[in-house]
Amino acid sequence: MKLKFPVVVIDEDFRSENISGSGIRDLAESIEKEGMEVLGLTSYGDLTSFAQQAARASCFILSIDDEEFINPDPEGITKIIEEIRLFVKAVRKRNEDIPIFLYGETKTSRHIPNDILRELHGFIHMNEDTPEFVARHIIREAKVYLDSLAPPFFKSLIHYASEGSYSWHCPGHSGGVAFLKSPVGQIFHQFFGENMLRADVCNAVEELGQLLDHTGPVAASERNAARIFGVDHLYFVTNGTSTSNKIVWHSTVAPGDVVIVDRNCHKSVLHSIMMMGAIPVFLMPTRNNFGIIGPIPKEEFEWANIQKKIDNNPFIKDKNVMPRVLTITQSTYDGVIYNVEMIKEMLDGKVDSLHFDEAWLPHATFHDFYKNMHAVGRDRARPQKSLVFATQSTHKLLAGISQASQILVQDSEERKLDPTCFNESYLMHTSTSPQYAIIASCDVAAAMMEPPGGTSLVEESIAEAIDFRRAMLKVDQEYGHDWWFKVWGPDHLADSGIGEQNDWVLHSNDTWHNFGNLAEGFNMLDPIKATIVTPGIDIEGNFGEEGIPASIVTKYLAEHGVIVEKTGLYSFFIMFTIGITKGRWNTLVAELQQFKDHYDKNMPLWRVLPEFANKYPQYERMGLKDIANMIHAFYRDHDVAKMTTEMYLSDMIPAMPPSEAFAKMAHRDIERVSIDDLENRITAMLVTPYPPGIPLLIPGERFNKRIVDYLRFARDFNEKFPGFETDIHGLVKEEHQGRKAYYVDCVKST
Ligand SMILES: *Cc1c(COP(=O)(O)O)cnc(C)c1O
Repeated sequence: MKLKFPVVVIDEDFRSENISGSGIRDLAESIEKEGMEVLGLTSYGDLTSFAQQAARASCFILSIDDEEFINPDPEGITKIIEEIRLFVKAVRKRNEDIPIFLYGETKTSRHIPNDILRELHGFIHMNEDTPEFVARHIIREAKVYLDSLAPPFFKSLIHYASEGSYSWHCPGHSGGVAFLKSPVGQIFHQFFGENMLRADVCNAVEELGQLLDHTGPVAASERNAARIFGVDHLYFVTNGTSTSNKIVWHSTVAPGDVVIVDRNCHKSVLHSIMMMGAIPVFLMPTRNNFGIIGPIPKEEFEWANIQKKIDNNPFIKDKNVMPRVLTITQSTYDGVIYNVEMIKEMLDGKVDSLHFDEAWLPHATFHDFYKNMHAVGRDRARPQKSLVFATQSTHKLLAGISQASQILVQDSEERKLDPTCFNESYLMHTSTSPQYAIIASCDVAAAMMEPPGGTSLVEESIAEAIDFRRAMLKVDQEYGHDWWFKVWGPDHLADSGIGEQNDWVLHSNDTWHNFGNLAEGFNMLDPIKATIVTPGIDIEGNFGEEGIPASIVTKYLAEHGVIVEKTGLYSFFIMFTIGITKGRWNTLVAELQQFKDHYDKNMPLWRVLPEFANKYPQYERMGLKDIANMIHAFYRDHDVAKMTTEMYLSDMIPAMPPSEAFAKMAHRDIERVSIDDLENRITAMLVTPYPPGIPLLIPGERFNKRIVDYLRFARDFNEKFPGFETDIHGLVKEEHQGRKAYYVDCVKST
């Protein structure tokens, strides 16, 4: 495969006709004759953006203008040296390995200080050797560098795909050839490209190793990733963290076991409870009236409190049982994270395994900003007894493709993970036909994070996220008393740079979060997760006269090409992944200003939301402000913020273990109950309102009045505001005489 990685030459005379330009041009020509591309630049330009482009270079040649050194002008020399120093520093901050050469006169080399020389691959003395000879030397160094880039599995896959072997194995498209036999197949082939299809191979290809047995290049890549992430064991998973969670659980939880679970965990954890027949004990997070989920308070983790929950649980017979696993959502959906050392201190040895669902936190281990606020990594103390697991969605915040995920394990002092036993659980949940592009992206995503490159990538996303917050504040100040969106977070930002961890710690009784009395140093907000709050409600849940429900803003943004991660009642959520650029968040700020302008002018929907108005003509002539206020009034009349907060915080009463209730589904021992008759019935389904997508009721639990009231509210709302529907997974919708009726599958009453 031919890669495009030019040799980059920086010389201010590169394009001019004088002597000093001609020497470097001869060298460039010789490099090109050897088949390498050369990119000539006449200045360093903007160093920050330039250093980023360094990702595309195979090496740098910095040519020194010798005029300055021939007629020594101390100031001129200092200036040139400083320029080189800044450039070398900017490149080395991300990349320790790319070759950098200086090119100049022999007498010039004496002036270059050691701190620069140390970072170089050589000083090329002009006129000492022929350009052809120098070119070959440079190309050799550049090739050694390029060859070192691809991590083990990816390298083998490139090799295999470009070798052009004829395959008789699956997949049936045979390296893409099948697609070429039909017109629509041709479109598919042209769209995805030959390499994606040539690299789509099956596990019969021995030279690539086996994901399911962790052998060959796959295993080498997993070891490489384990080293980069600083853990004892690391397993790539090609079916998402939904599967990683089930693998971790099945390796340690058996039917009837007691488990401790974050009440606001991802549904894959609840699925694990049902699949494995575990008896859950839930830890309750705080919530504020913006609908933002806060941390589980530190007291909840104290053993006495957990023991009390075990004592009160009717399905746990042995009250001295050791829970098998604790699962915490490490980075809640709004970006709150926990000090893991404090959790380990409380629960090491009291729970068999501590599991942190870090679907949204794979970046944290690469920057001190998150010190101790993530599960495992370099320099982290080993627990005495409990194993520590982290499951991470490589595809959510790093450069993995969808479903790329990984399981990380830290052994304890007294117990090491048994990889053979663990793999039995891995096999139970992994497809026997893993997608090799996903494995390659796990491999590459890890290699990208190797420090110092990974550290700068994380630092940049934090910096962009904080710059975005500063920009939003600046707009707010400019509008003065006029309304503007707020970004949820601490009241004070560092004046410049990224500041420090403590700026983002949730301190007790801070008004910005309103989660009340929190233990010092137990939680922080990850600044790269930004919740944008729309006007209409305060943090106490009091409604204003006017308001802008977030769904209107995000619909508007979507029609203008900006798609957000998640929409709440009066907030929506965006993330600064390592793929976010200045341009992208500037566009968001500009679109929000447009929205404000259109809202203040009460522009009709047919003009500002044409696609939506076309689909729902009943709103066509309404103004943006009118529709916002209409929905706002409905929310206010139903006091929806407090209603949902109280509903999520209400005591859920388990009437049977989750797996037992779910088994009723399999046996059709259920009946479809209208939401009006739900109170006290036992659900057989998971009930999950979107937003926020957090399961509200778990199979085996009874509906209480609060939940029933909420479901009725949702039905009325959906009837009144088509196009703005709240989606509730677990509800069965049926039409009766033109009216939508909502049901839930409940355990048959006896
Ligand atoms: C997204 C998510 C998962 C599941 O990850 P996938 O990679 O989408 O399967 C698990 N846990 C949490 C907290 C998540 O947000």
